[in-house]
Amino acid sequence: MSERPYNFSAGPAVLPPEVLQEARGALLDLDGSGIGVLEHSHRGEVFRRVLAEAEAACRALANIPEDYAVLFLQGGAATQFHMLPANFLPEDGVADYLVTGAWSKKALAEARHYGAVHIAASGAKGGFREIPGAAEIACSAAPSYVHFTSNNTIYGTQWAREPEPPESSWLACDASSDVFSRPIEIARYGLLYAGAQKNLGPAGVTLVVLRRALLQRAVRELPAMLRYALHAENNSLYNTPPAFGIYVMGRVFAWLQRQGGLAEMARRNAEKAQIVYAAMEGDFYRAVAHPNSRSHMNAVFRTPSAELDSRFVQEAEAAGLRGLRGHRSVGGMRASLYNAFPRAGCLALAEFMRDFARRAG
Ligand SMILES: *Cc1c(COP(=O)(O)O)cnc(C)c1O
Repeated sequence: MSERPYNFSAGPAVLPPEVLQEARGALLDLDGSGIGVLEHSHRGEVFRRVLAEAEAACRALANIPEDYAVLFLQGGAATQFHMLPANFLPEDGVADYLVTGAWSKKALAEARHYGAVHIAASGAKGGFREIPGAAEIACSAAPSYVHFTSNNTIYGTQWAREPEPPESSWLACDASSDVFSRPIEIARYGLLYAGAQKNLGPAGVTLVVLRRALLQRAVRELPAMLRYALHAENNSLYNTPPAFGIYVMGRVFAWLQRQGGLAEMARRNAEKAQIVYAAMEGDFYRAVAHPNSRSHMNAVFRTPSAELDSRFVQEAEAAGLRGLRGHRSVGGMRASLYNAFPRAGCLALAEFMRDFARRAG
């Protein structure tokens, strides 16, 4: 495994090698049961233990209060874009959205199917290079909820701290690309969701953490699979859950705890990002994000020309630095530095960047 290239992919993304080793073993024999993780009944004792352990590890890691449900659902973050308003935005209600990029725009578009939306702030004019400041946020009088995207994977911007919802309302967050990359005070949120494939595990499972009290407020009739209350009552076992994803996520939670927990991850992630941003100093590279909004998860940058960007990506690939091409809507390069991405890979990228600038600049 030591021969593997550095994988800067934005998602699906790098996972801890120790967890991959564990998963390799579990494919053939899960916890000494003689049956592999892909083959166990989700109603059986062995898988139930996997589910219980994943939930317990998640609660311990993020200090999730008892009055919050932890759900393992399917359909990705994109399903949460419509499940959230379907459950909580009444037809005559208003939901507030903080629009900081393409993912928040998609979340907003889905809410319009269910009720009215209010754009409480938007970074569109500035090309989403900056997170709105408190003075630029204007919520509606009594929104059903206030939705924001904690880390904008495509532009490389990240909220330094949560926005403040009006007192009668609550925060809903798409944390797909920075969940558990730093400590989080769950009590500040009504609902938080994250597709697993960036910071938590394989594609195919979505983590949802939500305040149980919200489950009493059904705002419309919905098909079974769209109802958070049903999934919560059945402890994510209403139908066959994404068993392998839940297994890997549980192992990732345990790995994060062994590393020292979320405070230690925040320290490491800040240091890793600093190594990469420091290599952009000078006038060869340009970071896409404004300095006050730079993400610790996705560092997005350009060289002076699209031709040099292409050459950068090609030469980096040849040097074992994979997955650096930027999102097709932004261009340039994107280095994704999630929890499992090693510091040594950041040092290797920084060295490559300085060398490339000397040769091409
Ligand atoms: C990747 C990403 C998504 C899309 O997630 P899917 O699981 O593919 O639906 C949504 N929001 C953010 C912030 C993302 O980074």
